[in-house]
Amino acid sequence: MSHPTDGNCIFCKIVAGQIPSFKLIEDEHTIAFMDINPVNPGHALAVAKGHWPTVDAIPPDVLASVARTAQKVAKAAFKELKPHGVNLVQANGPGAGQSVPHLHIHIMPRREGDAVSLNWEPKPGDMKEIGDMAARLKAALP
Ligand code: 5GP
Ligand code: ZN
Repeated sequence: MSHPTDGNCIFCKIVAGQIPSFKLIEDEHTIAFMDINPVNPGHALAVAKGHWPTVDAIPPDVLASVARTAQKVAKAAFKELKPHGVNLVQANGPGAGQSVPHLHIHIMPRREGDAVSLNWEPKPGDMKEIGDMAARLKAALP
């Protein structure tokens, strides 16, 4: 099956085998491989084979396939690496920290006390603002 591709995209090149990667798993719509700038040992990426930049652009069934692949890698990480936890992280747009505009889910094994800055302290929100946001989002749902 053919997928949309972007000739300038580093992950499209990995999918096409034009640049090397430490590949973990592959199926019809997805592949997973190791991140070459790991935040922690075992940091991997599950990506769509097709080039869709963000969560709002990718077909839902392909996104589901990427999630299934990420789950398999997370299970392997839990089983083999015995981390204290695993984060699945998926960034959309530069404001969210996305540096490669080809949809991917990070699988990040975590250790207590590691310096990965993904976690925050909960602070109570303003109920009026939360309710207003809920109303706007509900009205915008597909
Ligand atoms: P983002 O910042 O878009 O959420 O994540 C992109 C990830 O891709 C980064 O963690 C970065 O280390 C990784 N990355 C960038 N270039 C390459 C590459 O050529 N090969 C691999 N395996 N990972 C890459
Ligand atoms: Zn791409």
